[in-house]
Amino acid sequence: VPDFRTIRVQALYDGAGRFISPCEIFIRDGKLERIFSPRDDSVDAEAFRREYAPVADQIHEPYGFALPGLVNSHHHSYSALARGMPLLVPPGDLKTILKDLWWKFDSKLDLEDIYVSALVTAVEAIHAGCTLVVDHHSSPFSARGSLRQIENAFEETGIKSVLCLELSDRNGDHVLEQELEESLTFAKAHVNNHNIRAMMGLHAGFTLSDRTLKKIAARKPGDLPIHFHAGEHQLDLDDAKNKGYAGPIQRLSNFGLLNSNSIAAHCIHLSEQDMQVMADYGVKIAHCPESNMNNGVGYPSIQDFSAESVVLGTDGMGSSMLTSARAAFLLSRAARDARDPDMDSAGLVRAMLLDNPSSFLSSLFGRKMGVIKEGEPADFVIFDYRPFTPINQENWFGHVLFGMAQNPRADWVYSNGRAILANGRITSVDEASVLKEAREHAKRIWPKVLKHGGD
Ligand SMILES: [Zn+2]
Repeated sequence: VPDFRTIRVQALYDGAGRFISPCEIFIRDGKLERIFSPRDDSVDAEAFRREYAPVADQIHEPYGFALPGLVNSHHHSYSALARGMPLLVPPGDLKTILKDLWWKFDSKLDLEDIYVSALVTAVEAIHAGCTLVVDHHSSPFSARGSLRQIENAFEETGIKSVLCLELSDRNGDHVLEQELEESLTFAKAHVNNHNIRAMMGLHAGFTLSDRTLKKIAARKPGDLPIHFHAGEHQLDLDDAKNKGYAGPIQRLSNFGLLNSNSIAAHCIHLSEQDMQVMADYGVKIAHCPESNMNNGVGYPSIQDFSAESVVLGTDGMGSSMLTSARAAFLLSRAARDARDPDMDSAGLVRAMLLDNPSSFLSSLFGRKMGVIKEGEPADFVIFDYRPFTPINQENWFGHVLFGMAQNPRADWVYSNGRAILANGRITSVDEASVLKEAREHAKRIWPKVLKHGGD
């Protein structure tokens, strides 16, 4: 029996320049057939209404604002269970935060923890309107099989993903070899996957030797993009210079590791040569404003990158892209460069939230993604938003930044034609038991991390 659905919302932005308000959406068997304005009384629109009227499920969201499914371009699902963990000492600079917190935390994770972390991350991301998460995983002592755990959890909830496991020399050659094997095996198995793609994860230049970069370059398929941290702190730039390179990005290009679908997270402390190399290759920058503020590492000069290359991530700081977009906007306003006082912060943030992830993912998956498009599987989110000022083609993004982002919980999320969030409820898993299980795992991990405090 075909599944017919009509959805009426107050407003829709399709991710490709079209704003319709109000809007009616016709979906058949998960495929988005047509979008009309209810005011459209053309023969075509009437034909759809007649065909759907007797059989369709009607969803009427009088305050619904539909956007393309949101994308988190740099996340760490493995860090989910650290939320609220009491720290033994107040966090210091980035190196201390990594050594005293994250490198202890990731070393304690087993495969079951990884699965639960991914599941609870997916649940949170779906509530925030995401249909795809680009995850950067780390579990050096449970590397083998780890990506499959994340895949299973994400797939169970219906969220799409781009996965990688970070390679690092910090745990020695044996661990690195296991991380490399896991990455290559997973990538090979997902070359043409419709919903999940792999990248080759690298931690950051300052924990990778030249010898290791050479090894990775020799064994990595040429078109497999890398996903790494770059210039998050001055120490990464200094380290590359001490090793004889112009900067961390130039160093990776020297080993032939870059291509246009590569993602470099942060990109705050880079050299001029690094910037040039990024522009030459079209490397994507994952801007993580909330994380950068939390770690006190500064902020990138967004206007110095090509406007099409910046995407948005949370770096493990929650899963809400509307919150992240608002933070990116406010940071850009607070830090606006004296050289460019008229910088269009809202335009830049709109591009990093919607337009740029769409072109990045379309290129990576080889199919159109990140837009609400007729003839494609339904892939969009509906937020309940009650404007008290006019909303139109010119100002809708202002409503997103100043209004919707204050309450970034979605009502409906369609991914690949399926409602994975319906009326605010996750449709695939029992959310209460997922949360309970996550709390139990967190309770087991915390003491292991904290008692490790001395070294
Ligand atoms: Zn990160």
